[in-house]
Amino acid sequence: MIKDQSCVFCRIVADQEEASFVYRDDKVAAFMDINPVNTGHMLIVPNRHFSNLVELDEAIGGHMFKVGQRLAQALRCSGLRCDGVNLFIADGAAAGQTVFHSHLHVVPRYTGDGFGFHFPASYGRETPRGDLDSTAAMVQGALAG
Ligand code: AMP
Ligand code: ZN
Repeated sequence: MIKDQSCVFCRIVADQEEASFVYRDDKVAAFMDINPVNTGHMLIVPNRHFSNLVELDEAIGGHMFKVGQRLAQALRCSGLRCDGVNLFIADGAAAGQTVFHSHLHVVPRYTGDGFGFHFPASYGRETPRGDLDSTAAMVQGALAG
C-alpha cells in the first residue's frame, strides 16, 4: 500500500514506475539514478516513506548505510570507472534535497570527473578552539537520547 502516490520513490518501490534495480530486500531498494553524476550513481531508498532524516527509522537508516558500503565495494569491482566513492544524503531543500523520500546517494568517483563541492570563501581558515568548543556544546545540548 503506497502511503504517498505523488512520491516517485514510493512508486518505484511499489513497481509502479520503471527503475533499474541493483539490490532489494525487505527494508530498502537500490537502483540507478536517472540523472547520474557519473555512470554507476545509485540511490538507496527505504521501502517505507520517510520524508527526511528526522522521520527516518534509525535501524533502517543504519541498514541503508550498510547496503551503501556493500554497493560502494561492488562499484569498485564492477568494471565501471570508480577510484573512489561518495556516500551522501541531501536532507532538506537547503541541503539540495529534491525528492522528499529520504535516500542515500552512492556515487562512483575518479580524478577529473568534474564533480565536487563548492566551499564558502571563509572555508580553509582554522577556527579557534573556543569557538569549536561552544559550537560543540550547542549540538551536544540538543542531542536526543
Ligand atoms: P536529491 O536531490 O538528493 O533529493 O536526489 C534526488 C535524486 O533522484 C536525483 O539525483 C535524481 O536524478 C534522482 N531521481 C529522480 N527521479 C528519479 C527516477 N524516477 N529514477 C531514478 N532516479 C531519480
Ligand atoms: Zn515515498
